[in-house]
Amino acid sequence: MNRTVDAVVVGAGIAGLYALHKLRGAGLAVRVFETGDGVGGTWYWNRYPGARCDVQSMDYSFSFDRDLEQDWEWTEKYPTQEELRRYLDHVADRFDLRRDVQLGSRVTEAVYVEDAQRWLVRTDRGDEVTAQYVIMATGCLSASKLPEVPGLESYTGRWYHTAHWPEEGVDFTGQRVGVIGTGSSGVHVIPLIAQQAAELTVFQRTPNFVIPANNHPIDPEHQRSVKADYERFRQANRESGFGVVFPPATKSALEVDAKERTAHFDRNWYGPDNHPVGLVAGYTDLMTNEEANDTVAQYVRDRIAEIVEDPEVAATLQPVDHPLGTKRPCVGTGYYDTFNLPHVSLVDVRKTPIAAITTSGVRTSEREHAFDSIVFATGFDAMTGALSRIDIRGRGGLALTDKWADGPRTYLGVAVAGFPNLFTITGPGSPSVLSNMVVSIEQHVEWVADVITALLERGASTFEATLEAEDAWTQHVADVGRMTLYPTADSYYMGSNVPGKPRVFLPYAGGVGPFRKKCEEVAANGYEGFAIST
Ligand code: NAP
Repeated sequence: MNRTVDAVVVGAGIAGLYALHKLRGAGLAVRVFETGDGVGGTWYWNRYPGARCDVQSMDYSFSFDRDLEQDWEWTEKYPTQEELRRYLDHVADRFDLRRDVQLGSRVTEAVYVEDAQRWLVRTDRGDEVTAQYVIMATGCLSASKLPEVPGLESYTGRWYHTAHWPEEGVDFTGQRVGVIGTGSSGVHVIPLIAQQAAELTVFQRTPNFVIPANNHPIDPEHQRSVKADYERFRQANRESGFGVVFPPATKSALEVDAKERTAHFDRNWYGPDNHPVGLVAGYTDLMTNEEANDTVAQYVRDRIAEIVEDPEVAATLQPVDHPLGTKRPCVGTGYYDTFNLPHVSLVDVRKTPIAAITTSGVRTSEREHAFDSIVFATGFDAMTGALSRIDIRGRGGLALTDKWADGPRTYLGVAVAGFPNLFTITGPGSPSVLSNMVVSIEQHVEWVADVITALLERGASTFEATLEAEDAWTQHVADVGRMTLYPTADSYYMGSNVPGKPRVFLPYAGGVGPFRKKCEEVAANGYEGFAIST
């Protein structure tokens, strides 16, 4: 297809669908390209058994349409992948979005043509589209990665990555299965594979803090009461730190006695409305002071020791090398109990590293494990991976990957100097993965739609972050990150799960509410820090 549109949106997940809706509403002709054969993004691809959101249903949903939020009935505390996919399919139909979404089409290239002041976008299906604006709604956790070990091509069994699960599902009944990775995806999939497999071997590199989901059907009364005043609930989320509301902390964890602390941690471990953010948001200093953090980390290690019967296995599962929250805590159901099952074993790959995938399974430094199937729950090239897999070139043919060779540089996580009229929804330097993504996506998309409306009103043709504003913001993001414990851990927040990726703190830790305020101020001051030309 060769055509001209006002805006190209890359990706038809939560961000892409909403960007299409908003920009269409602003009168733009929009084309959305989506790699998948369905809409939904994360919730289209991550259909492995047990996939579930770790933000509660009433929070993790669009707020832009009163009727939508009133009509949709959530069924559980944490929505399943299947429910979220149904919801996003419903949104696509309800707002008639599909007619502008081209599925099965991966954007490979986006080049800024300076003379024309337009972007030329190409796909792997041979499409060539020119557009004044490009909206990268490519997701923060969408570029999946396999472990850096040789030999996968020689493996004769079946293998799966959690982020590309077969639509028809997988039956592991009677199989010997190996799972590599114990992040959120591994934590979800391991207990369910254990229910089917004859033998399950889990390869763990870094033990994670896994907080019980305590999932349950939504109390209809709770759903009714939230919906009765949903706008107030939404506004509180928008002004909060993480995009979800927790009672404000007033004390240091070190200021209170052990009994009081334990009571707080117990509520956030056993309580029906518990959540990992509730654990860390309970005291003022859990994310800034290592000694304070160790109170909650030790609490979780104690729970692991209670649940897991074999003390050696329990010790292997206990995280000791990073403060709780500096890698994203996982939400699980029956995760630690799974290691009490006789057919489940744990391999600590820090002690016995994986040397290779072989024809029959996984070889560690110690021995070979034969498997009928291997599941890679090995995560993503987070935040920048989906962008760097597209050849994006701005002014003077500068490649975004070259510009970001030492780490991403953005203004407000949404714009990049030298790349006019290109917007990165929840890009690096915005709260993104430290927040309820729907809240952050809505904020970014609405801000971008306002920008474009303002440009149309002024008859302006380009909108571009200045280098000075970008430098100052990038410095600010790093400075705020350094005030926290996040940089102390090797995590995808730091890019350190991808060999060779610069070790830079990627999201903005200043909080969803303050970030929104900053974006509003920038707009109110005539988009300070941006150059606008006609
Ligand atoms: P992840 O958190 O990055 O976990 C990847 C796992 O694979 C880690 O345990 C990692 O170990 C391990 N790994 C990677 N390379 C390895 C290697 N060569 N050898 C051994 N182990 C290796 O990825 P994820 O579990 O897919 O989750 C990513 C994020 O997606 C989550 O943090 C969350 O934000 C989101 N997510 C959310 C949900 C939910 O809503 N509940 C569910 C799934 C995902 P290291 O830790 O040592 O690197």
